[in-house]
Amino acid sequence: MPVLQTLELGDPRLRQPAQPVDQIAAPEIQALLGDLWDTLDDFRQRHGWGRALAAPVVGVALRVVVLTYETQRLVLINPRFESWSRTQTVEYERCIAFGSIWGQVYRPERVVVVAEDAAGAAQRFDVDGELARLIQHEIDHLDGLVWLDREPDLATICTAGERARQRTAQPPTG
Ligand SMILES: [Zn+2]
Repeated sequence: MPVLQTLELGDPRLRQPAQPVDQIAAPEIQALLGDLWDTLDDFRQRHGWGRALAAPVVGVALRVVVLTYETQRLVLINPRFESWSRTQTVEYERCIAFGSIWGQVYRPERVVVVAEDAAGAAQRFDVDGELARLIQHEIDHLDGLVWLDREPDLATICTAGERARQRTAQPPTG
């Protein structure tokens, strides 16, 4: 299965809402899932990061996400929110479509999301923390949004190089 080209920020296809998938068992949808996994795995191998890939990020306007979290490999087809927590958290994010930029984004701490899996079975995720953030970032892609649209504090936006420097900086002592 081919590794697909990931789009870069500025490509108008990243700002286009994606369509629901009707026939999950269709060969072209199953082939797309294979291609998304191959593309994500290839990206991780080449760049050392990247945990999820939404179909619009490879220019396919369908509501399909593949996601790795700890030891899980999840497929979310037609994901939708059942609920959000009122409480928000703020964390740094970056995106495969513009990985050289980081910024702090506020998002609900906990979400309940329903979606179909690769076999068309219903799944429900009641999640918080990193996984909740990751799923929200990916569903944004299905709606034609990137994290910059989530009103990050502009003063927190930094380059990957600067972010790495900040993370390795020694904490002040004594
Ligand atoms: Zn992204």
